Amino acid sequence: MQYALPLRSSARTALYRRVPTLLGQHTRLFSASATPHIHLWDHLPGEEIKEPREGLAKLKGKIREERFRRKPQINFAEHDRFDVVVVGGGIVGLATAREILNRYPDKTVAVLEKEREVARHQTGHNSGVIHAGMYYEPGSTMAYTCVKGAQMMYDFCEKHQLPVERCGKMIVAVNEAEHKEVEKLYHQGNANGVKGLEIYDSKKVSEVEPNVRAYSALYSPNTGIVDYGLVSETLAREIIDTGRADIKLAFEATRFDKLQDGSVEITGIEPAQKGPILSVNAKNVITCGGFYADRLAGLTGGNPHKDQVVTFRGTYYQLKPEYRTMVRMNIYPIPSGGGIPVGTHITPTLNSRRGHALIVGPGACFTFSREGYQFFDFKAKDVWDSFTNTSFWAFALKNLGLSFGELYKDINKRAFMRAAQAYLPDLTLDMVEHSFSGVMPQVFQKGGIAASDYILERKVLGGTTLNVRNAPSPACTASLAIGEMVTDTAAEDFGWPKIKR
Ligand SMILES: Cc1cc2nc3c(=O)[nH]c(=O)nc-3n(C[C@H](O)[C@H](O)[C@H](O)COP(=O)(O)OP(=O)(O)OC[C@H]3O[C@@H](n4cnc5c(N)ncnc54)[C@H](O)[C@@H]3O)c2cc1C
Repeated sequence: MQYALPLRSSARTALYRRVPTLLGQHTRLFSASATPHIHLWDHLPGEEIKEPREGLAKLKGKIREERFRRKPQINFAEHDRFDVVVVGGGIVGLATAREILNRYPDKTVAVLEKEREVARHQTGHNSGVIHAGMYYEPGSTMAYTCVKGAQMMYDFCEKHQLPVERCGKMIVAVNEAEHKEVEKLYHQGNANGVKGLEIYDSKKVSEVEPNVRAYSALYSPNTGIVDYGLVSETLAREIIDTGRADIKLAFEATRFDKLQDGSVEITGIEPAQKGPILSVNAKNVITCGGFYADRLAGLTGGNPHKDQVVTFRGTYYQLKPEYRTMVRMNIYPIPSGGGIPVGTHITPTLNSRRGHALIVGPGACFTFSREGYQFFDFKAKDVWDSFTNTSFWAFALKNLGLSFGELYKDINKRAFMRAAQAYLPDLTLDMVEHSFSGVMPQVFQKGGIAASDYILERKVLGGTTLNVRNAPSPACTASLAIGEMVTDTAAEDFGWPKIKR
């Protein structure tokens, strides 16, 4: 599959001509006695496949222009009654809505999203990695949907000509003790059906990524990168193009009532406004609220105290443009974090908004607001919910070093970079600049156990509603397969006819 180059070739040539001068400033790398470790690739990943930068710009423009412009065949303004309402316009909600529309040609669907665009939260602020599936317990829903979803994601991007690249990934062990984890992940990945895994020794690691120092590494050729925001916009376009669906933006669902006729009245408001009151009616409701999943579940009559969400900010730095090609593929450390996804990795990006970069991150710092993209973002209700969550405290106390370490890393660049320097020793603080941050929800269960699989809450509100309570990473990779899984469950719970996928 093709992806657009970050620079036109003339600009690129100019950049590479400047590289020695720029690197010359790093005397440690270019001291007279030592052979320089640093190696900047003379071509970028995927460069051999030519596609002009304008291709991406045109495609983006087309998607933005066409987005939501096409008239639905049904006049929803008059009716506002749907077979299904999906709450949440992140990738999980959109993939679910698309799957229902594709599988049931007579159903009408509305997606309600509180923001003014789709994919505004987790889906639009993440690493953009298509995970291959080594991390997950064999037999888990996560393992199955990740491996299947990754393939579906590559196919979807190919069909819609979206930028995507199978750039590969190495999970690196920096010492002999960590090598055991490499072996474990290798066997786990094979058990999950991940193709092409290989264990590299130190020499092979240096051959393929000269700037990486490792004792050994697990190499996965099928790990890739994509822009999940762009994928979501494309899903939204497909949904609208069915002519049987509506995407209602700036609609924050605040109340769900089961009516006498068995349908559900969903009432809402435009966020931060008092009115007018918005309403829409549906036979069935599916909520996919990301880090508001527990609150939405509570509104629909689900159990708000079980599977409560605590949020963590994942901050990223990025390599300055002249160092952007320091590594070519995803470089990940051995996973740590007592069950929560912690570990500073390096990832090339293909983001239509933020561009081509090499990002370093994310951290996992406790937030004082569910939408805590900055350290000082604060919302009393969110803090109260986290501080009264006994399962979270049980986890935090068991992992004190991790909790304070991540908090410190979030405000101290030197500490943040130390994690990446363990395997990229030539990375210096002046090579990086601030990038974006994302907020990830984590559900803690009794005894401080971090939930490690997707959670569905079924047959809520008199059997009309299904709540997706936990959809953390790799839910973007897996989204299309999750859409299938949620639709299967909805069909079973709501008595829809069984239709083969
Ligand atoms: C830092 C970070 C890095 C990650 N990296 C990766 C990665 O590389 N690969 C990968 O596969 N996954 C990754 N993930 C995980 C992935 O981003 C999420 O699992 C996925 O985006 C979840 O999608 P979602 O639709 O459930 O949630 P979201 O994208 O958060 O969408 C939920 C939507 O619901 C809306 N909503 C909530 N309440 C209401 C309401 N009352 N009314 C109307 N709308 C409402 C919100 O506005 C939001 O748009 C990462 C996550 C983070 C945070």
